[in-house]
Amino acid sequence: MAKLIDPKEYRGKKFGQLVVKEIYLKQETKDKRRSRARCECSCGKEHHTSLPNLTKGKVKSCGCSKRKAALDQIGRSYNLLTIKDVYSKRPASNPQ
Ligand SMILES: [Zn+2]
Repeated sequence: MAKLIDPKEYRGKKFGQLVVKEIYLKQETKDKRRSRARCECSCGKEHHTSLPNLTKGKVKSCGCSKRKAALDQIGRSYNLLTIKDVYSKRPASNPQ
């Protein structure tokens, strides 16, 4: 038997930049359910991820920290190339 997760145990907990707002079960297949976490990132965005990813430290933000790490690369040189800009191919839905 899998250990039942007490949602109250996780509510308000912080994992990296994410604060757990809610734990819910997502029906993946007929007899398979996964624990998901609705979190709020420190940047203010809401982010949904699987609970194991969160507790194992695989997910630490809504993705904004990755973008920040990428932005930190601007101006760095690798061999003869200097990074001038970093961008995401995904269209920005809410520019900040
Ligand atoms: Zn964020």
